[in-house]
Amino acid sequence: MIQKILNRKILSKEEIITLLRAQDRNDIQAIYTKADQVRKKYCGDEVHLRGIIEFSNYCEQNCLYCGLRKFNTSLTRYRMTEEEILQTARTIYEAGIKTIVLQSGEDFDFSGEDITQIIKSIKKEFDIAITLSLGERDFAEYKIWREAGADRYLLKHETANPKLYSTYHLGQKLYDRVEHLHYLKSLGYQIGSGNLIGLPNQSIEDIADDIILCRDLDVDMASFSPFIPSPMTPYQNQEQADVDYVLKVIAVARIVLKNVHIPATTALATIDSNGREKGLMAGANVIMPNFTPSTYRNHYAIYPNKKVVENPMPSLLNTLFIAGRKIAEGQGHSLKNI
Ligand code: SAH
Ligand code: SF4
Repeated sequence: MIQKILNRKILSKEEIITLLRAQDRNDIQAIYTKADQVRKKYCGDEVHLRGIIEFSNYCEQNCLYCGLRKFNTSLTRYRMTEEEILQTARTIYEAGIKTIVLQSGEDFDFSGEDITQIIKSIKKEFDIAITLSLGERDFAEYKIWREAGADRYLLKHETANPKLYSTYHLGQKLYDRVEHLHYLKSLGYQIGSGNLIGLPNQSIEDIADDIILCRDLDVDMASFSPFIPSPMTPYQNQEQADVDYVLKVIAVARIVLKNVHIPATTALATIDSNGREKGLMAGANVIMPNFTPSTYRNHYAIYPNKKVVENPMPSLLNTLFIAGRKIAEGQGHSLKNI
């Protein structure tokens, strides 16, 4: 039964659910083997590194699961200066990494113009791709940032269940989130979406819908990442996601989505000390090392005990060695024809 599904080109929702439900050891092994084959066919053995700069932890949103939510008044807030951001970009570039991810809460103190300026300064100095991950902003801002040289935008849909989406985001609509993603794609951004796994009341059907939404959106990157309960949030006493389940979701997502970039996330490395290696072996082909300066890093507390490595490169090389993989040479643009 499982093998028959694994041989199909396009999987139905029911088939995806069957894979996600697999419990038998041989079935699970067959899923991982297939995911690894698909990864190898579409991505090769190269692993793309994306250096993250978490430049502000101010956020206007109140996502129920996140430690940066506005109502978390216990958090020390910071903003990096343009100078500090550029300096960190240099560190990333000099480490040989060819994508910078600029990430923050939804912080409108960084105006559209401020972000444009930062994009232009980075692009002027370094031959490097830029991914923005700033939450939902004005459509006009997305446009000027794209024109200024931003290459990609990462905006996870978090859950494809509209009811749960509204619950986690205080009445906001999944439909609007998806509209942002459509618009970003229409501007020529390579888009990234994805989910959080293990949120309250989420079912296996919901996870299948997450994978299918990524397929429907024709995303270039998709992140399937564990929920980790964060102190001082409404979900602080909820259970953390199960590592094996997250790995199974990554594997099934690889089988369904094929030519997309899938990261072995920092959250996965946080709940399992070998999470990165395991993620790479379950179908992932991207790692996003954190380059936020140490003075700020602890304050970017989306979830607690985030895996942090002071000098990430040696440890990354070790991870790749264990997984039998190598660092990618290029900027790691979309695997699709765009
Ligand atoms: N504000 C931007 C970017 C920063 S948040 C945005 O929301 O898009 C980046 C990601 O952190 C979110 O997409 C979410 O999936 C993840 N995140 C938030 N809280 C989390 C938690 N408790 N455990 C794991 N990941 C979490
Ligand atoms: Fe803000 Fe992003 Fe956290 Fe939501 S997930 S509270 S938008 S930082």
